[in-house]
Amino acid sequence: MRIIDHFVAGGGLAPASRHGDVFDPNLGEVQAHVALGDKAVLDAAVRNALDAQPKWAAVNPQRRARVMFRFKELVEREMDALARTLSSEHGKVLADAKGDIQRGLEVIEFCCGIPHVLKGEYTQGAGPGIDVYSMRQPLGIGAGITPFNFPAMIPMWMFGVAIACGNAFILKPSERDPSVPVRLAELMLEAGLPEGVLQVVHGDKEMVDAILDHPAIAAVSFVGSSDIAHYVYRRGVDAGKRVQAMGGAKNHGIVMPDADMDQVVADLAGAAFGSAGERCMALPVVVPVGEKTADTLRDKLVPAIEALRVGVSTDEQAHYGPVVNAAHKQRVENWIQTGVDEGAELVVDGRGFTLQGHEKGFFIGPTLFDRMTPEMTSYQEEIFGPVLQIVRALDFETAVRLPSQHQYGNGVAIFTRNGHAAREFAARVNVGMVGINVPIPVPVAYHTFGGWKRSAYGDVNQHGTEGVRFWTRVKTVTQRWPDGSALPGGSEDGGPSRIQDAFVIPTMG
Ligand code: NAD
Repeated sequence: MRIIDHFVAGGGLAPASRHGDVFDPNLGEVQAHVALGDKAVLDAAVRNALDAQPKWAAVNPQRRARVMFRFKELVEREMDALARTLSSEHGKVLADAKGDIQRGLEVIEFCCGIPHVLKGEYTQGAGPGIDVYSMRQPLGIGAGITPFNFPAMIPMWMFGVAIACGNAFILKPSERDPSVPVRLAELMLEAGLPEGVLQVVHGDKEMVDAILDHPAIAAVSFVGSSDIAHYVYRRGVDAGKRVQAMGGAKNHGIVMPDADMDQVVADLAGAAFGSAGERCMALPVVVPVGEKTADTLRDKLVPAIEALRVGVSTDEQAHYGPVVNAAHKQRVENWIQTGVDEGAELVVDGRGFTLQGHEKGFFIGPTLFDRMTPEMTSYQEEIFGPVLQIVRALDFETAVRLPSQHQYGNGVAIFTRNGHAAREFAARVNVGMVGINVPIPVPVAYHTFGGWKRSAYGDVNQHGTEGVRFWTRVKTVTQRWPDGSALPGGSEDGGPSRIQDAFVIPTMG
């Protein structure tokens, strides 16, 4: 059986005493074992990082950016192979796997401009002979803990910005699909990154706890489910670290009566079921406004859903592939049963779906519920599968209230032709990322990504200039250069004196 090992500079680690199974979700079989590391593995990585980071921080930003340029080229050259590996461990179709890599590469493109965004601020003459300037300095060693659902994009969100800013970075990817993160680290080395600046340690809770407690790690970025995000946030902050921890989601799509219904149905088919619903920006709840809108939408949705093709992840015609593992398949199917038990109307039931020749694969057919209500736990909780729920709203106010009062606040979308309604909605809704006729409003790399409420702990978003803020700290220098040649008490010709040069608070007088 293939072993996926840590990527730690210098190697020489003791063989792992624990391993995790990495499945091929298409077949439902174990295809590799991943080493599950402990504190000793992390200590080795931290020692390397402590050695490498000051030298890396001393490399000027333009030269650091050139590593990013080369890395982008290498990833593009290897795109097909990376997508195949990603798809074989995650189960998302190849087009989605390429999208996963591409969206990460866009953050690398942003990092190619790091010299520009790292420039500080300068005030000349903030007081008599006094100038003030600020600089952004790296934190030292940063760590990232990432989820299974974007094994390329989310690691790149984090290590791209952290490393471009001059930090060393230790990545702990999801143990469910760990191969692509390791390959990305190898490619960074090939692109010219010095050894020890980017390392990958595998593991589960034991490794996460070791990261959170390690005194030499200055900052932790986490993306995953909300309970664990909250735990990581608390424990990391207790240990004195800077922490951002992105959590789960339950994104709503509001459909106004004037929306282009065919467009909405096409958008929902992709946003609710694409990647088997395993996206934190998926749209698993649709809120039609008014009974007539709801009936029209449902009539159009049912045939569209029944036409979706579920297939193996290499099937180019498939809309989506299997979910990540058997436990997750069971969890999603349990949520479907809960929806039924809570009294929602199950319109299309995706349970019991099998694919000929892949009977053990982790497939779930597309599922549609109507008449969900806010009291149902199957509405309140994240399902993270190919399940779309219709919650009927009487009016616009109810439609604003539903996502605003939900425990998660990652993304939300409104479909309408009415600019005033859209503008009002975007301004009032209590959610971090809003789409107007855009079903999955993931901001581009030079803007920033982050939800609200239980979708994110900490106050700084991923990538863009917010990412730079997270991975650097600001130092502000107040300087003056008194003219030491002047005579005490004033010069005979009435020139500057030491008395006149005495320090005064810049804003006084
Ligand atoms: P997860 O929370 O199970 O795992 C995330 C990371 O935490 C992994 O690296 C895992 O090894 C680690 N981990 C797991 N259990 C742990 C524990 N008990 N203690 C400490 N660490 C632990 O998440 P997942 O299933 O890999 O990913 C799906 C979740 O991630 C969904 O909830 C999804 O909404 C969320 N997500 C959020 C965003 C966002 O930006 N808000 C993006 C992608 C995914």
